[in-house]
Amino acid sequence: HGEGNIKVVVRCRPLNSREIARGAKSLVRMVGNQTILDPPEAGTAGAQAASGRATERKPMNFTFDKSYWSAGPRDEPNYCSQQTLYDDLGKELLDHGFSGFNACILAYGQTGSGKSYSMMGYGADKGIIPLTCSELFVRVDEKKAIDPHINFTVEVSYIEIYNEKVRDLLNPKNTGNLRVREHPSLGPYVEDLSKLVVNSYDEMMQLMDEGNKARTVAATNMNETSSRSHAVFTLLLTMKRHDVDTNLDTEKVSRISLVDLAGSERANSTGATGQRLKEGANINKSLTTLGKGKAEEFVPYRDSVLTWLLKDSLGGNSKTAMIAAISPADVQYEETLSTLRYADQAKKIKNKAVINEDPNA
Ligand code: ADP
Ligand code: MG
Repeated sequence: HGEGNIKVVVRCRPLNSREIARGAKSLVRMVGNQTILDPPEAGTAGAQAASGRATERKPMNFTFDKSYWSAGPRDEPNYCSQQTLYDDLGKELLDHGFSGFNACILAYGQTGSGKSYSMMGYGADKGIIPLTCSELFVRVDEKKAIDPHINFTVEVSYIEIYNEKVRDLLNPKNTGNLRVREHPSLGPYVEDLSKLVVNSYDEMMQLMDEGNKARTVAATNMNETSSRSHAVFTLLLTMKRHDVDTNLDTEKVSRISLVDLAGSERANSTGATGQRLKEGANINKSLTTLGKGKAEEFVPYRDSVLTWLLKDSLGGNSKTAMIAAISPADVQYEETLSTLRYADQAKKIKNKAVINEDPNA
């Protein structure tokens, strides 16, 4: 049914060359749905990196909907590939979308933990977004072949939220700060945002590439990396069906949001000053607001642009999943622990999704 908690999964990437060069050891183990984080061993690079901070001295054990191991060889039976992640999360996302529910996948974690790899992917390792878009058009064609009275419209928008400002990645010339407004029944939206109709997977990929380029260019111009901004890719699926017997038209609309969050380390970083502090504080605001998602608690959505826009996805009308991305390295111990704790909190967020159907369309 439409009511339930956010689905929370963890994915652990392999040690990278920098971590290996630092002599980093792996601290993460996964057993079934459990993720276990061992404390860094005394005298290691990991212990050094964590020194002076409140390090837990015992193994920390967390249970999630799934714990995905992508840190070992790809031919290991328990290895989680891009396809595994898509099969588990992307397919369900489409099922929800085609049923008329809003659906959302968020990627959370420190910079370099694998958020963009999971969402967008790199090269041949396509992530959830391209794999979902590909299957979306396959399903549209299948449904149209079965029922000649059904019609679909797929629209896409792509934004970046940086320093509480919204940028339209599909219309980068629009440099003004786009306003977030609220529609009485449809909820929060971005005013003047491009929403482009897309007819095929290739068209979709072209738009996505343009958006990704706009994101990169902006990051370079600002002398920043994408680690400080949130990227929200949205698919709007409209299904119209004509019932010949009753001569009635029905319309279902669903919004599928795919969110690559800013690096979570900004939320904890200390010692920042001036402009950096302000930027950090804004992202911090977005992320801590999300973190307050306790079922009974009031979530102050309007505290940040991100949480306002994701109001439906977090505690509202949506089927939502969160991917917490982590590094196995002992030198990242503190960030990994904080990500696992955050993900553990996120399990408490409850959503109540309803089918967005208009029988008199
Ligand atoms: P983030 O978006 O969280 O900052 P990225 O997704 O860009 O991090 O990942 C950082 C690096 O780690 C990239 O080079 C990426 O290819 C690699 N990486 C991340 N996750 C995986 C994974 N599951 N398997 C292999 N490589 C990965
Ligand atoms: Mg990234």
